[in-house]
Amino acid sequence: MDYFPWWTEEQKKLAVELGEFAEEVMPRDAGARWKREFPWDIFEKIAKKGYTGVAVPKEYGGSGMGATGACIVVEQFCRMPGPGRIMVGNMIGGLRQIIEFGSDEQKARFLPRIAQGELGAIVITEPFAGTDAAAISMRGKREGDSYILNGKKRFIVSAGIASRHMVYVRTSNDPADIAKYRHLTAFIVEKGAPGFTVEKMNEVLGFENIQNGVLDFDDVPVPVANRLGQEGDGWKIMTAGLNFERTLISAMTIGWQGELLRNAVPYAQRRVQFGKPTIDMPGNQTKIADLIIRLKLARLATYYTAYLWDLGWDITVESNVTKVFNVEGTMQSALDAVQVMGGDGVTPFYPAQSIFEIAKVEHISGGTMEACRMVIFKSGVKQWEKDLKMRRRVIDEELGVPVPVHGALPREKDVDEGKVLSMLAEDYRVNPGLFMSRDDMTTCLDVDDARLDAFLEALEKKDFAKLYRTKKGISLAKATYDGLKAAHPKEYYRWFPGWVTPDRKF
Ligand SMILES: Cc1cc2nc3c(=O)[nH]c(=O)nc-3n(C[C@H](O)[C@H](O)[C@H](O)COP(=O)(O)OP(=O)(O)OC[C@H]3O[C@@H](n4cnc5c(N)ncnc54)[C@H](O)[C@@H]3O)c2cc1C
Repeated sequence: MDYFPWWTEEQKKLAVELGEFAEEVMPRDAGARWKREFPWDIFEKIAKKGYTGVAVPKEYGGSGMGATGACIVVEQFCRMPGPGRIMVGNMIGGLRQIIEFGSDEQKARFLPRIAQGELGAIVITEPFAGTDAAAISMRGKREGDSYILNGKKRFIVSAGIASRHMVYVRTSNDPADIAKYRHLTAFIVEKGAPGFTVEKMNEVLGFENIQNGVLDFDDVPVPVANRLGQEGDGWKIMTAGLNFERTLISAMTIGWQGELLRNAVPYAQRRVQFGKPTIDMPGNQTKIADLIIRLKLARLATYYTAYLWDLGWDITVESNVTKVFNVEGTMQSALDAVQVMGGDGVTPFYPAQSIFEIAKVEHISGGTMEACRMVIFKSGVKQWEKDLKMRRRVIDEELGVPVPVHGALPREKDVDEGKVLSMLAEDYRVNPGLFMSRDDMTTCLDVDDARLDAFLEALEKKDFAKLYRTKKGISLAKATYDGLKAAHPKEYYRWFPGWVTPDRKF
């Protein structure tokens, strides 16, 4: 496996060691899938070798290799869909949340268990709350030193086999808490808690031997000591955990992409059609080139995101961007690899088929592509807020067309209704199809908010301006046809490029 120059020697060594270990246990995993049994012996070996503790800090019995170490492990183990996914489940079921939000006592109690390979599960989704995770209805009511939990959760990976469950419940219905996303609380629920049962096991595409099910919580008492953070911190903990989960899912997909390449190339080198190996056909070479392009970029994006995690940066945008890019790339690579392998590609006798199936599942689990894009839109636009300001442009006197202005222009003083209308009319010459934002207007005019509103409303009454309002008040304005006429004579707005001859103007 290629390593990245910023990896530590320890991380590089881990990658080599894991590559060899994965090769050794993959035959056993392939056999287990045909029997629909989970290869527990492989997972026990994984735990015994300490790989489950790769991202657990050293003081809690792990090897402290951070998110980068976690991604190295996940990439290699996801060459085997079963153990790989259980490994991811183990890490997302509380590891990051406990490191970031747990008390010292909780870290000492749970982190060594994770390092030793105890299985965990992440428990968010409910029958009536999927993408809209803030709408979860499972209740948590405090009674003395415990909370009593009631509700159902579904689609939970490792249902019935996990020992530790990172569960999010609603502890407040107060509209003020809901508005501030302070209505959810995070708990660690242990297997065996009274009233805590598995209701049903799902059959899921690509999950031949992986348990995924519905959990039922019927008056389940959970000690306050198992509450992560404070009451109301649940949303914050959930979103931080989801960012980590999405980074690990990205690592999962590069494990699959690597396997697609490892299968498609040797296959095409050995399949002869029209008297030559199919790898010599340009159509197949282009597809293989695309597999390499996607794998290279997906690995780069994944390990860059992991590196930023380890530096302690906010990776909200990066983890979501990488998940979308990697999952969609993996789906396309699975399509291409199956195509290169022809009919054999769609049989379970080669691994491409199962990767093709599980690649689709990742468009949904851990947050859908649409959910990730919503985060990217919101956080990405905020991240680039300064760069996304509209550049001010003015009409160049000689050219008669809009040109950008460098630096600030003097703001118009002694503002009155006429000057506001002139500004809107001038903006029509520069941006004929756009409204002006408040920011645009106050960049041109030296006027306070209340007076600007009064002038705009007066213009609106005369039908000289059209206004767009939000809950906060007037946010956009433009001149109407009558407003443009009132501001300047028709001639003022006319402009023709030099090649338009006078006989063609009227
Ligand atoms: C295999 C698998 C494993 C899973 N593992 C776990 C687990 O271990 N723990 C856990 O808690 N959950 C788990 N999930 C649940 C998973 O997180 C949810 O399925 C996912 O968040 C989507 O919720 P939903 O299925 O209810 O779809 P819905 O929310 O009903 O969405 C249906 C469609 O509408 C789109 N949509 C919804 N709202 C919007 C919007 N505002 N804008 C645009 N599009 C929107 C969605 O993107 C989707 O395409 C798993 C799911 C699967 C399939």
